[in-house]
Amino acid sequence: MTAPVSPRPGAPSRRAFLDHNATSPLRPEARAAMLDALTEPGNASSVHTDGRAARARLEQARTEVAGLAGAQKTGVVFTSGATEANALILHPELDIAGRPVTCDVLLISAVEHPSILRGHRFPADRVEVLPVDAAGRIDLDALDEALTRHAGQGRRALLSLMLANNETGVIQPVAEAARRAQAHGAVVHCDAVQAAGRLPLDIYALGVDFLTFSSHKIGGPQGAGALVARHADSRARIALIGGGGQERGRRAGTENIAAVAGYGAAARASGADLARESVRLKGLRDRLEQEIVRQLQGTQIVGADAERLPNTSCVIFAGVKAETLVIALDLAHVSVSAGSACSSGKVGPSHVLAAMGYAGDAASGAIRLSLGWSSSEEDVDLALAALGRAVPQLQNRPVRAA
Ligand code: PMP
Repeated sequence: MTAPVSPRPGAPSRRAFLDHNATSPLRPEARAAMLDALTEPGNASSVHTDGRAARARLEQARTEVAGLAGAQKTGVVFTSGATEANALILHPELDIAGRPVTCDVLLISAVEHPSILRGHRFPADRVEVLPVDAAGRIDLDALDEALTRHAGQGRRALLSLMLANNETGVIQPVAEAARRAQAHGAVVHCDAVQAAGRLPLDIYALGVDFLTFSSHKIGGPQGAGALVARHADSRARIALIGGGGQERGRRAGTENIAAVAGYGAAARASGADLARESVRLKGLRDRLEQEIVRQLQGTQIVGADAERLPNTSCVIFAGVKAETLVIALDLAHVSVSAGSACSSGKVGPSHVLAAMGYAGDAASGAIRLSLGWSSSEEDVDLALAALGRAVPQLQNRPVRAA
């Protein structure tokens, strides 16, 4: 979907939004569910009719979000987003299926989202970063070595490995890594923010203990997310936010019913047409990539040979500064992100591309184009036309006829 903007002479009159990995526009179903919820006064902890209506919305959303990963609704804890869910679970003291477990060390891959890289409630000297290969996938031999070394010294690990990378879309071998980790008694968490609603997910097939989700990457509202446990009695023993007994004592504070209702509706909508949508988005994404490579010299698709999300394209344009290209595309009414810039307009070298072995120069010309439920052929046409004008100009080359 392209959004109307006030036209400038000579400029296209609509915008193409190709930044779904930063945030996906609110789905109409989510908006309707939120507006509905906002008309009701109840606090989900109140026993009266209004409170029970709010509780019913909350529990319906819990079922819908659990459905994204074939999980039990009792495993879902709603949070303010994926950052909070990650911060909640990255703690050494856990309960796994009701049994207390202490994790002595946190193992993460070098391409995790910054909300994982921080290590949260693990002391910095107990966080070990594992390398990735040239496609950005965790080095399973390095994982085996770390697991064996720590187990040999009597240390249990918590492994946190993302399912799909937010910058490149590259998919990690999570099920295999989880199998190896659990053979050493480790606990496994997976940040599945970018994979949810884009890939079929099954928490049992993945074999992980916990998954992190975010509402706004699937067309729900910003400011909502979830930590999903495979077992209802698995949790971080010490809550991040204490107080009332909401979320079965796992996350205190009156629930944001409208946001959670919108999240649930987005989860249902994204799950309902996942198979059809992933074929459609892959078609759009492949056309975008093929035309970019055909029309523009010196372009490279990051992770092209790896298994990737169907919606994500990370493209390196030789001799171009990504920040300048993002601005040029913006002026041409096309929204994309530079490198890792998915928070606070931050630009700078991408730790993901660096970990994959891209030198500073190549990585500084990387932009991310990411599609989603609202994306259309027209968006792809607009982006291709804008790139076809901007890239040669920034490379000081003649602009080719379309
Ligand atoms: N993990 C990944 C992989 C992400 O892409 C993001 C969002 N950029 C987050 C976590 C944080 O999500 P939220 O905005 O819901 O805090």
